[in-house]
Order: sequence, then structure tokens, then C-alpha cells
Amino acid sequence: MAYTLPPLPYATNALEPHIDTMTMEIHHGRHHKTYVDNLNKALENQPALAAKPIEQLIREINQVPESIRQAVINNGGGHLNHTMFWEIMGPGGGGKPSGPLADDIAATFGDFGQFQAQLKQAGLGRFGSGWAWLVLAGGKLQIISTANQDNPSMTGQVPILGVDVWEHAYYLKYQNKRADYLDAWWNVVNWAKVAERYSRAKAGTL
Ligand code: MN
Repeated sequence: MAYTLPPLPYATNALEPHIDTMTMEIHHGRHHKTYVDNLNKALENQPALAAKPIEQLIREINQVPESIRQAVINNGGGHLNHTMFWEIMGPGGGGKPSGPLADDIAATFGDFGQFQAQLKQAGLGRFGSGWAWLVLAGGKLQIISTANQDNPSMTGQVPILGVDVWEHAYYLKYQNKRADYLDAWWNVVNWAKVAERYSRAKAGTL
């Protein structure tokens, strides 16, 4: 069956003033939709692959024929990355995580502020388009960045949280100031969702 664009879990103006309404409309309604459409196009003659949940399709990217693999990485990765991105943000977000996620962030990075600084650095250091991530790798938290729409699961890492640093994610409001966007982004993080992803990642069900 064809992949479909999931509805935004909140209104397009819900993340104002940190992420503006027009950016959300274009980002979800056009960019994400195009990834979904082009993924379906790439898998037109691959019903078995197209039947996989998107997480599984990307995790098992090596099972995709080489002739369409890059198209699936770009568009399937784009679909998966953005589906997560909408879920881990929300109105009334921000603050800090609590529970095991907070404890493990502190144990791994020193404290929450150092974690934030490192994620920001990963986003700033990604030249061109990509994502900065908090992943579970070999049972440990780690910060990485990926190019384009590559998803960490393609290399065996489990994405807990990711921030889109493509210009389309911030340019209308922040122009070339990626650092300002990354600072503002913390205000819209839904830590309850991120904590839920962390607990599922540790249980091996994410
Ligand atoms: Mn994007």
C-alpha cells in the first residue's frame, strides 16, 4: 500500500513564535508531501517493499535494489525523519526531560546544558543540508549528524530525537541564522514524546 502524509499532530500555527506558520505549512504540506509522493513513485513496482512500515523499510535499506536505493534513502528517509520531527515537537514544549532520559543525558554529556551545546554544534557543523540527532548506539546515547535525509537507523543507530537543519526548516524566519533557529527550537521540544521514544529504543521496539 502507498505511504501517506500523516496529519500534523497540531495546528500549523501551534509552534509560534519559534517556528512560524508559513514555514510549517510549506514544510509539512509541500516538502514532506513531496517525499511521500516520490517514495511511492520509487516503489511503484515493488509491492513487497512498499508494504513495509517506513521504519523497517529504511532500517533494511540494503534489501532495496540498488537501482532505486538512493531514491528510497532520500524520500523514504525524508518521510521517516519528518514524521518523527512533527511528533517530537508541540505547543507548550520546551523545558527539560525528566526520568531515565534526563539521568542518562546527564551521565553521558555532563549536564543538560552541555547536551544542548553539543547538539547545537552538531547542527551547525553539518555543512549543507541534514539533521542533528540524539541516538542510541550500542546501548549508549550519542550525538551525531547526518547528511540530506539519511536516517541513523541505516547504520544501526536508533534515533531518539532529531532536528532538521535544512534551510527549508528555518529560512523564512531565521534566514541564514541557523544558530538562532537551533536555540529557539528547544522551546518546542515535546520531552514527554522524546522520553517515550527513548524507553521504546531501550526496549528494542522503536
Ligand atoms: Mn525538512
